[in-house]
Amino acid sequence: MFTKSAKFALPVLLVTPFYSWGFSYETPSISPESESGYEEKPGWEAESFAVAAANPLATDAGYQVLKAGGNAIDAAIAVQMVLNLVEPQSSGIGGGAFLMHYDGSEVRAYDGRETAPQGVNGELFLQNGEPLAFTDAVVSGLSVGVPGTLRMLEKAHAEHGELAWEELFTPAITLAEEGFAVSNRLHASLTSDEFLRQDPLASQFYYDSEGAAIAVGETLKNPALAEVLRRVATQGSAALHEGSVAEDIVERVQNHPERPGSLSVEDMRGYEALDREPLCTPWQQWEVCGFPPPSSGHLTVMQILGMLEQQPLLEAPFDDGAPSSGWLHQFLEASRLAFADRGRYIADPDFVEAPGGDWSLMLAPDYLEQRSELIEEMSMGDSAEPGNPGELAVSWASQPDQPEYGTSHISIVDEEGNAVAMTTTIEQAFGSRILSDGGTGLAGGFLLNNELTDFSFSPEVDGDPVANRVEPGKRPRSSMSPTLVFDQESGELVASLGSPGGAAIIHYTARTLVALRDWGLSAQEALNLPHAITLGGDVYVEEGRFPEETIASLRERGHTVSERELTSGLQAIRRLNDGTLFGGADPRREGVVMGD
Ligand code: GLU
Repeated sequence: MFTKSAKFALPVLLVTPFYSWGFSYETPSISPESESGYEEKPGWEAESFAVAAANPLATDAGYQVLKAGGNAIDAAIAVQMVLNLVEPQSSGIGGGAFLMHYDGSEVRAYDGRETAPQGVNGELFLQNGEPLAFTDAVVSGLSVGVPGTLRMLEKAHAEHGELAWEELFTPAITLAEEGFAVSNRLHASLTSDEFLRQDPLASQFYYDSEGAAIAVGETLKNPALAEVLRRVATQGSAALHEGSVAEDIVERVQNHPERPGSLSVEDMRGYEALDREPLCTPWQQWEVCGFPPPSSGHLTVMQILGMLEQQPLLEAPFDDGAPSSGWLHQFLEASRLAFADRGRYIADPDFVEAPGGDWSLMLAPDYLEQRSELIEEMSMGDSAEPGNPGELAVSWASQPDQPEYGTSHISIVDEEGNAVAMTTTIEQAFGSRILSDGGTGLAGGFLLNNELTDFSFSPEVDGDPVANRVEPGKRPRSSMSPTLVFDQESGELVASLGSPGGAAIIHYTARTLVALRDWGLSAQEALNLPHAITLGGDVYVEEGRFPEETIASLRERGHTVSERELTSGLQAIRRLNDGTLFGGADPRREGVVMGD
């Protein structure tokens, strides 16, 4: 069934057939990850189809769907529903997502981003004129946007699905009813979270009476989620967006004990997933397709890569298993410049105009050449200013930096050659820390996002408006960068990839693309590389993973460098020259790849 290296990383399988697709499904039992948080992975080969997700149970659900003749969209739905159950801290039906799809001829960008309720205004996160403390804003009803993941998947399925919608919920419903073994990562996230215990439903469901998180390996059932998913399976997204489930979500948001939000049943009912025009950017022999605004992902990734193309070629950009200090310097300086543009210009395109009326002007080779010339031997430090890619009627102020976290990435290539890159989120780990049981009165449920904290807390700076300020019906700027890569000459798919990681998603994705194209690394080796990031100020390098000399050399060039954990959750599937696939999953998380 599996090729050799796929078998190598397969979890032990307990056989419990129960699915209705006429084949026997096997409920995998997962041996928990090591505490280290970094687990070597082999990479996985597959002949014709593969699925990569952040949790083995979720990957397995996608694999079973593909094996039963489902396509990439079908598999993505099954994967997402299982992720909601087993990795509830990162994504689910209470959140939003972006999905890039390739159907063998056309690339589409589905926007399921959360949307601000009609009852908000630019002052949402201000108190007496001052921005709220970030955590106060997150742990509240204020931060909850209208969820969009389910409506987006429903739209994509209506246009491309192969198997019946209803069947795609079977893996998640079954696992929710029968229970799954709590993973190391879920346990660790529950233990370290300071706020989830304050939610009455979540404290009963995930913790014991002393506040200890459910143990690794213990079986957790989620009857409330099973019931909600059963309704969604038969009634579609209306079962979430209308009626008693929507009412329960609204009630919890509006009755948040400290900071209630305005989300209404009309907001819930009115949510629409959107089609966006994907951005496809030539990059030497490749064409890289990614998500347009409201994500800043593709524009910022490709600005960085475009500036790097203009930099002097280095003798050793990649040295001894890690990017060299010379390459890192160029990469970090390009990041500073790209993040300056991002902070000034990028927001929901239904509310703000692109510079010069066209987002792709931010990627014009002339413009990037001019930007790249600002990179010198010594670091520009925190002094990067936005450039001027095109005229604007409004003079925007730059958005001050804010933290972003959480999230999960799914990559799939099916037997027909369709591909999905989907990044899915409830923003922070456990989102707003509000668990909804959908009004079922059963134990468990799903978490509501805090995506609205991806808006700028300050609507203006020195009298100028911030492009990404809060407005009713607007979608907050994202960093999510689901990416599909093609060979320019043949038009063939080359890779599907993406990652969580807040604003650092952009660095993780950009660096992975360079490693795949220029450094000859496999999809697994590329994900293993140590990370280095900057949003324009300090540089953070992944703790304990760079040689001392590299860090010293960056400091000599004027970067302020410190080490920290940089928990990406990259997933990548690469199509090789012989047409077979090779997938990688981030060693920093629990993900695996499965395929045949
Ligand atoms: N909310 C973030 C965004 O949409 C993602 C958070 C994360 O990846 O950790 O950009």
